[in-house]
Amino acid sequence: MENPFKESPLQKIEDDLLRDKGITLYIKRDDLIHEHIQGNKWRKLKYNLYEARLNKQNTLLTFGGAYSNHIYATAAVAKLFHFKVIGIIRGEEPVVKSATLEFAASQGMELCYMDRETYRQKDDPMNIESLRVQIGDFYYIPEGGTNVHAVEGAEEIIEELNVPFDYVCTPCGTGGTLAGLVAGLRGEKQALGFSSLKGDDTLTANVNQLVKAYTGVEFSNFSINFDYHFGGYAKVKPELIQFIKEFKQKHDIQLEPVYTAKMFYGLFDLIKQNYFPKGSSIVALHTGGLQGLSGYAEYFT
Ligand SMILES: *Cc1c(COP(=O)(O)O)cnc(C)c1O
Repeated sequence: MENPFKESPLQKIEDDLLRDKGITLYIKRDDLIHEHIQGNKWRKLKYNLYEARLNKQNTLLTFGGAYSNHIYATAAVAKLFHFKVIGIIRGEEPVVKSATLEFAASQGMELCYMDRETYRQKDDPMNIESLRVQIGDFYYIPEGGTNVHAVEGAEEIIEELNVPFDYVCTPCGTGGTLAGLVAGLRGEKQALGFSSLKGDDTLTANVNQLVKAYTGVEFSNFSINFDYHFGGYAKVKPELIQFIKEFKQKHDIQLEPVYTAKMFYGLFDLIKQNYFPKGSSIVALHTGGLQGLSGYAEYFT
């Protein structure tokens, strides 16, 4: 089979602010990896699929919300590699499916709905076991695709960076992608995550735990910024929408409101505030997720 995944280029960004502040900025265009299996979701799924094959598992099971980039990407990747796939969706079955769930179903994903109460305990081994009794055996991929195999996939991003840099930035949900970057850096340079969720201590702890599980060591050359969540997960404000429109116009790069726009907004704001020393070189990861724009169509008409 021809490799359907494209290498993600590094794109240098030209901007007056960057010139004024003496900052070099590259965007690692993981959004260009695949039309449907974008960005960090492919990075995180890759070695999980190897693992599933290794364990002779033909069925994947994972979790997510009705607008989840992970559900969308997992459905597409399962079809591509001929896995059976079950998506457990948070909440009651909707009367009208989101575009994300429509797509997932079109790829052959079997959708099951789980009430929010039970969903909160979804990762409990008892719950996974009870699903095995109901459904039969499967390869379990956690919500967002984040586990130690995800770290292995995201680590490869660092190997692909063939420019000198001081900082690498990524948006954060579960922190799996950031953990991969930290693992790949092996204690050198700085990784900076921008949380899309309101601050809580578990995110930093998760990153530490994942890095340690994968590399056997902990590294302290990373930090997570919680100042640019815009009200919380999936919440937006007019200035964020405006930022997306301007970014597209200026740089011809599409962002989405849940993750990438929050990071770039935060990154440019920190550059304005002289957070980065003059002469710094920054790589920012475009983690893709552009299917998520379908949930925000009314803002972009
Ligand atoms: C899922 C996702 C993230 C968050 O990644 P984590 O590994 O969960 O921190 C960031 N950006 C996009 C576009 C995503 O889809």
